[in-house]
Amino acid sequence: MRAYPSDDRPGILPGIYRLYGAAAGTVSKGFLNRNPRMNTGCGRVSPHKHKVRGVFFVIDKLLLGNYQFRQTDFTPNIDYYRELASSQHPTTLWIGCSDSRLQTGHITQAKAGELFIQRNIGNIVPVHDWNFATVLEYAVVHLKVKDVVICGHSNCGAIRALDKESTDSYIPLWLNNAREAKTRVDSRISPPKTVLEADERYRMIEQENVRLQIEHLFTYPLLKKAVDEKRVEVHGLYYDLATGELKKIA
Ligand SMILES: [Zn+2]
Repeated sequence: MRAYPSDDRPGILPGIYRLYGAAAGTVSKGFLNRNPRMNTGCGRVSPHKHKVRGVFFVIDKLLLGNYQFRQTDFTPNIDYYRELASSQHPTTLWIGCSDSRLQTGHITQAKAGELFIQRNIGNIVPVHDWNFATVLEYAVVHLKVKDVVICGHSNCGAIRALDKESTDSYIPLWLNNAREAKTRVDSRISPPKTVLEADERYRMIEQENVRLQIEHLFTYPLLKKAVDEKRVEVHGLYYDLATGELKKIA
């Protein structure tokens, strides 16, 4: 079934179609090799080349990706997406880190419409924060989600930044919301002597931070009330970038 008349031909993306022509249906290594802007001149594709040669190509790639999404997912599932267009009924409020390596829907195989998402640096639940409070209130009171998830992850830059001096204007202030996790872990263990021990310490802080943010979550009366009345359950999850495994830790 066609979603729009333009699905026969990508008329809405004339620039992209002109640039890539028949290749528009197959973004692949071969496609990238055929694109002169991705060619290093020695027959190899540099994974970094397109980043330094211009944002324009990156945007083209994203728009082309959207064209492919419509062809392979949106149009074949047009009834599902049309129903979603009029209303949403997510089951879960997902609070995760902004890290680009975490594709929330992908790693959980959740479909559009299932997760109501709040992402920020360090998967933090700030206390006394209007932005977060608004998301929480809308999710719990209006959307009536059944589960609230706080998801931390391995190699989190926010957690590693807790050890660094910074002259940034905003980041250190934001990370104050997670400092207690570092304090708690450092009070329990000896200073690491090896790289492995240092990595393990960071893993412990990342996981303690999830537990700390759950504590922050319960400072919001509307959330505590919903949990007390068994309308909502809170879960702490941890995602390992190296293995792809998502597990429950709290
Ligand atoms: Zn992170």
